[in-house]
Amino acid sequence: RAFSAAAVAQAKITLDGPGKLNVPNNPTLVYVEGDGTGADIWASASRVIDASVEKAYGGERKIEWMEVLAGEKAFNETGEWLPQETIDAFREYLVGIKGPLTTPVGGGIRSLNVALRQILDLYTCLRPVVHFAGVPTPIKKPEDVDFVIFRENTEDIYAGIEFQSGSDEVKELLGWLQDKGVADKVRFPDTAAMGVKPVSREGTERLVKSAIQYALDNSRKSVTLVHKGNIMKFTEGGFKDWGYALAKSEYRNEIVTERESWILGNLDSNPDMSVEDNARAIEPGYNLMTSTQQEALRNEVAGVIEAIGATHGNAQWKNKVIVKDAIADIALQQILTRSKEFDVIATLNLNGDYLSDSAAALVGGIGIAPGANVNYTTGHFIAEATHGTAPKYAGLDKVNPGSVVLSGEMMLRYLGWNEAADLIIKGMNGAISTGQVTYDFHRLTEGATLLKCSEFGSAIIKHM
Ligand code: NAD
Repeated sequence: RAFSAAAVAQAKITLDGPGKLNVPNNPTLVYVEGDGTGADIWASASRVIDASVEKAYGGERKIEWMEVLAGEKAFNETGEWLPQETIDAFREYLVGIKGPLTTPVGGGIRSLNVALRQILDLYTCLRPVVHFAGVPTPIKKPEDVDFVIFRENTEDIYAGIEFQSGSDEVKELLGWLQDKGVADKVRFPDTAAMGVKPVSREGTERLVKSAIQYALDNSRKSVTLVHKGNIMKFTEGGFKDWGYALAKSEYRNEIVTERESWILGNLDSNPDMSVEDNARAIEPGYNLMTSTQQEALRNEVAGVIEAIGATHGNAQWKNKVIVKDAIADIALQQILTRSKEFDVIATLNLNGDYLSDSAAALVGGIGIAPGANVNYTTGHFIAEATHGTAPKYAGLDKVNPGSVVLSGEMMLRYLGWNEAADLIIKGMNGAISTGQVTYDFHRLTEGATLLKCSEFGSAIIKHM
């Protein structure tokens, strides 16, 4: 960790305005090696990341790695699980990567990951889900899986506002609910524990905006808002409504909603279709509506045709990003059965937790699933292993370094170093498709060659 202050100052990534990174050719990137298997994984993964940069830019660009401590390694050296120096480094250098960390048992900090997310307000948990040919999968058409999940990271039931069954707080809450006339909705008040689920317009807007911007920047075709608004109308339904409203107000020229696409599609197949027939086509229950409802629907249809339909003749709207929504339970089915329909997913914290782990299982599981926690406004980005420290394999040079390798790939793409990122994907494809894999894939793949953690890194580099 020896570096001269001058060199570091030159190499620091800075922000050129909200979300606009200024990346020098030799940026200082912060890393936490991680506990348990973290050391093996980092040794292998950092070699892959460095090799990709070297091969892509022939020495013109190079990452200056700066190690900071967190987890057990930090505790052993400093007596603290998450030293202030580490937080300051992530804050100052903006971009970094982190191996798995031991969660302190019975300590003050519940989870180091959660702490970092909260301190830096990393409101997006970004989880790409894509299948590499040859990776064991439980589904028939894994090649259809290629989507990116934007999970809201700061709100929802994860805010941690919960009260224990029988506590004074629950009794007070019940009293309050009584005043509001809804206490009888609590089926077993004497033993109920209670939690609070905050979901805000601001929280939704910044997440959905990041997802739409990502879709535009990466030529994705759709953004799906996944929610449970049919049951939780104000929280999850609010997420959906605020999401659509943001899409229409901030990205009117770049997006169409799915509903708008129905209206415009009807007009495409029949340019003479009247507004009324179009309204009937998108709402089969039209005849059962009151005349006021019918009028509102006709106004909506006419409004859409006027606002976007000016270009419908040459079908330009078909090239726009489609913004749609799906109920969470259906979405969990459809990522399995109709993976192709998902491209970018924006969702609340709890839905996103289920969705991203379930999705990871489609494409090889936690040994290979990458992730990052991001604040697109301040520029802070921490790529991370999505698995834990797997202590029983520590020091055996055995586990799959894929999660950190691919987290590194996400980080390179975030820096705009796409050529290096592409090489990592190419190397990964090459190694896996020729059956050179670590134990987790080996035991599920007939005829494959078993590699160590370090050897798998070398195989990726060889195939770049
Ligand atoms: P774990 O993810 O460490 O391990 C569960 C199992 O997953 C392992 O036994 C192994 O079979 C498999 N696995 C994990 N990483 C793998 C890899 N790279 N390649 C192949 N297989 C892999 O979960 P755990 O055992 O429940 O937790 C162990 C420790 O990790 C705990 O202290 C926990 O708090 C911590 N943890 C940290 C994070 C994080 O830092 N992001 C996440 C989860 C758990």
